[in-house]
Amino acid sequence: MSAYCDSAPGHPLHGPYHDTEYGVPQTDETVLFERLCLEIFQAGLSWELILKRRAGLGEALAGFDVDTLAGWGEADVERLVTDPRLIRNRRKIAALLENARRVQALRLSHGHFAGWIRAHHPLPLADWVRLFRRTFLFTGPEVVNEFLMSLGVLPGAHRDDCPVARHLATLPSPWET
Ligand SMILES: [Zn+2]
Repeated sequence: MSAYCDSAPGHPLHGPYHDTEYGVPQTDETVLFERLCLEIFQAGLSWELILKRRAGLGEALAGFDVDTLAGWGEADVERLVTDPRLIRNRRKIAALLENARRVQALRLSHGHFAGWIRAHHPLPLADWVRLFRRTFLFTGPEVVNEFLMSLGVLPGAHRDDCPVARHLATLPSPWET
């Protein structure tokens, strides 16, 4: 990922993401769920395309509100696959709605989405992938690795000498118990 620290700064889409979001720990459920959805949408596509479409995705998907999306059903999948703001992939859209229901279940078992991550941290990537596959849909190794790196759960988002990495190193991590 070190190349991202070279190519992203100054880019209209990648720059702000690199400087203010990538590798930054987040505990807000909507932010976590948005990130998971974006990583799933990204599978097989470019991250730049996802950043370009991000605002439209948020509009079409109720601002990534877990409770709203958990209540959407088959008719909504049919509506969303024809929505030009979406990534038109039925499997991804259906996974997203089911994953919203799975996040609701994590509230019961672990208090909230971030609590579930914290309860299992630290794990090697392979164990995270097994855990995500038991818990969510459409979460293969690349999605899980990028999701967790982007939240500072797994290391490697930034090169050690990147100014963002140096700043993040001074902050307490919400993943340490
Ligand atoms: Zn960086």
